[in-house]
Amino acid sequence: MTEVLEKQQERGTELGRISHWIGGQSVAGESGRSGPVYNPARGVRTKEVDFASVEEIDRAVQTAKEALVSWRQVSLSRRQELFFRIRELFHQRREDLAALLTEEHGKVFSDALGEVQRGLEVIEYACGIPTLLKGDFSEQASTGIDVYSIRQPMGVVAGITPFNFPAMVPMWMWAPALACGNAFILKPSEKDPSASVLTAELLQEAGLPDGVFNVVHGDKVAVDAILEHPDIAAVSFVGSTPIARYIYSTGTANGKRVQALGGAKNHMIVLPDADLDMAADAAVSAAYGSAGERCMAISAVVTVGDIGDQFIAAVKERLPKVKVGPGTEPDNEMGPLITREHRDKVASYLDSGKEQGAEVVADGRETAPDGDGFFLGVSLLDKVTPEMDAYKDEIFGPVLSVVRAGTYDEAIKLVNENQYGNGVAIFTRDGGAARQFQHEVEVGMVGVNVPIPVPVAYYSFGGWKGSLFGDSHIYGPEGINFYTRGKVVTSRWPDPATSKVDLGFPQTR
Ligand code: NAD
Repeated sequence: MTEVLEKQQERGTELGRISHWIGGQSVAGESGRSGPVYNPARGVRTKEVDFASVEEIDRAVQTAKEALVSWRQVSLSRRQELFFRIRELFHQRREDLAALLTEEHGKVFSDALGEVQRGLEVIEYACGIPTLLKGDFSEQASTGIDVYSIRQPMGVVAGITPFNFPAMVPMWMWAPALACGNAFILKPSEKDPSASVLTAELLQEAGLPDGVFNVVHGDKVAVDAILEHPDIAAVSFVGSTPIARYIYSTGTANGKRVQALGGAKNHMIVLPDADLDMAADAAVSAAYGSAGERCMAISAVVTVGDIGDQFIAAVKERLPKVKVGPGTEPDNEMGPLITREHRDKVASYLDSGKEQGAEVVADGRETAPDGDGFFLGVSLLDKVTPEMDAYKDEIFGPVLSVVRAGTYDEAIKLVNENQYGNGVAIFTRDGGAARQFQHEVEVGMVGVNVPIPVPVAYYSFGGWKGSLFGDSHIYGPEGINFYTRGKVVTSRWPDPATSKVDLGFPQTR
């Protein structure tokens, strides 16, 4: 066990208080409202997080507004230099961040480190901000007239994030937003809020001016105050589909630019010519990694043709080898779920699946570790059909459904008719089939023999249909566009000798 994890275990008995971070310091909440934070591996409440009132949100926004005045004047080269320092510091402290994720979210430490690493890549992309904000220039667009484009920060922007990536998803937002010259208000998930506070401390240590990055904790009261605040120009949201839809409609009705990423039901299509061992390895990794609490987790495998029995056998053989237990133990591969209620809801799909005609190949309730932790073992449903709840709902836990399709056409129809369109994968040895699939599938992120096709930081991340509301995907080039507003300047430095009055509409020729 690392030193960081040992310290975390020692701390495990105190009931900590998590407060807001406004203007470069910790600010105790005054609303009188708070919520519990658990250690899900032990099943005990370990901390209490303050919930912000409308007034506290306003205080954070006013602080950000004041800090923005000088922050947006900071030169690109200074912002770049600061981002290099931020990158170094987050890299040095990655184990501390990861330990907080293991403690409050429950994901195993190696997975938590992977989360921090993928977030770091977005910070590294933001280090290139001078290049990313380069505009266009057209000399002599008309005689004596030059035209050029510039991109300027939106102002005060906010991010509202889910429980399942408490460090990485905020990084998807604050890294490009700050690099573009905005001030940022983060409202992290109330279920695992500590990583956001450590983020604020590290940004300050790296040299970010106070007030440019603020953290407010809370629930719907805080979110609604953000959506209605007249001084917030843009809102990024990642979370479940019903809330994403609400954030998009409320935020845009209040005149804000909004990108709202929602839930998912990611399919993996296995064609008859696929390497079945490789496909089974991929399905087990992508279905049960992070206990299935990933928006890019594989939730449904669609076997095509007559390979269903073979595929089930290959997955079944792998299940007993998946080590489930507290994320602090280095050998464990899958931790608990986020809350007891969520664990029970996820497990209920095993019952409804059975009642509705699916075959329960593995019931994770029988293999969950003993104790009070919110564990569910790896679970597998076979012969799932599109009418069943286990197929229709996102589930967001370690329950993999296998659907058997007769043909490729049936398989792609299933994916395209699904309400979600976040990620999808195809496993095949046939390049032509894979190419046809990537062309016709109605999903935003496609993997070819890659089960979790999360785009690298210099592309953008986002789904289609019920998985994204708004026009912008997140991070990468679309992230830079989202956090900036374009301006086009048409400029003339005339020879005074040529000046005359001309009331006609300006011509370019
Ligand atoms: P959630 O929608 O419950 O919560 C997300 C955020 O919204 C939190 O900060 C929460 O405090 C806030 N919130 C919750 N209920 C609210 C309400 N009624 N009004 C206003 N705000 C509210 O999501 P979650 O359970 O934290 O996260 C899991 C979900 O996020 C899954 O559906 C998963 O697929 C999705 N997710 C999507 C992506 C993506 O990129 N598309 C990435 C990660 C997670």
